[in-house]
Amino acid sequence: MKTVGYAAYSSDAHMKPFHFERRALRANDVAIEILYSGVCHSDLHTVNGDWGPQPYPLVPGHEIVGRVTDVGPEVTHYQVGDKVGVGCMVDSCQECDQCHDHEEQYCRHGMTPTYGAPDRIDGEITQGGYSKHIVVREEFVLRIPEGLDMSRAAPILCAGITTFSPLRTWDIGKGSRVGVIGLGGLGHMAVKLAVAMGAEVTVLSRSKKKEEEARSIGATGVLASTDEEAMTNAASSMDLIIDTVPVEHDVTPYTSLLDINGTLVIVGQVGPMKEFMTVPMIMGRRRIAGSLIGGIKQTQEVLDFCAEHDIHPICEIIRPDEINSAYDVMSKGDIAHRYVMDMTQMSDDA
Ligand SMILES: [Zn+2]
Ligand SMILES: [Zn+2]
Repeated sequence: MKTVGYAAYSSDAHMKPFHFERRALRANDVAIEILYSGVCHSDLHTVNGDWGPQPYPLVPGHEIVGRVTDVGPEVTHYQVGDKVGVGCMVDSCQECDQCHDHEEQYCRHGMTPTYGAPDRIDGEITQGGYSKHIVVREEFVLRIPEGLDMSRAAPILCAGITTFSPLRTWDIGKGSRVGVIGLGGLGHMAVKLAVAMGAEVTVLSRSKKKEEEARSIGATGVLASTDEEAMTNAASSMDLIIDTVPVEHDVTPYTSLLDINGTLVIVGQVGPMKEFMTVPMIMGRRRIAGSLIGGIKQTQEVLDFCAEHDIHPICEIIRPDEINSAYDVMSKGDIAHRYVMDMTQMSDDA
């Protein structure tokens, strides 16, 4: 199947239109017309080569929402016309303990990311959601529930599941005290999800600049890490801190905010971090942990949870040809919304 999208042709060039083929349907494949594609900070890291060399031309995008246009003969869960999504993975071994445990993201043989990795069967490099069509095996297709606005659902498939999974891992619920470092794409979803679970949520930031924004999505307010008195007063006051900052930074100022047995979970920065002080860790059995997206079952759970609680990511819908300016804005600093490309605006002869 012929399709068109936006691809990076090298680590230093901007995205340009790219015509390519999607594979012919296998028996268990679902063909999807992509309507909306979220723009994740990790797309930017990947195309820039920050995480290693890439197979260019590379079509990023792992927050995909669309409609089923065709199904293979063995597909049982989806029909033509269904509203569906695809997140950060398109395959895994399906046989190891992690896959059996619905934790395909930790597949012992490595999950297949939605873009930039060889397909498990034919070795073709996977290409992501900045395109008009995609073909994905049924097990990695999600259902977009009624009640979610298609145009704003895409970021749930990465930013949503990435923050939902640690909230579930650490049993956040009514009365839990949660801190969220950073109020960008991931952070604002962390706040909305934790609030809906009944937690008391504080945004942690260098300044109180985002106080109003934080309150508007249900947080009690912003604790400024530069305000020493406020930080001292907040010592041992949180059960879980979700650290969404996507660049190297110092976690030490935040660890003392954790109560005994509390956890600071890193979901943003992939790579080196500054040294941290072990005293608060040892003196309070506190933990620094990491977490990667979530399994397919839990990704469906967060989609359903968002529909049930009327949670939508804050999105700015852009045309595909605005992707380069969106990248420019994203690389300059944190934005408290997610860019989502309306892929129906992409012309076939771009
Ligand atoms: Zn992502
Ligand atoms: Zn596996």
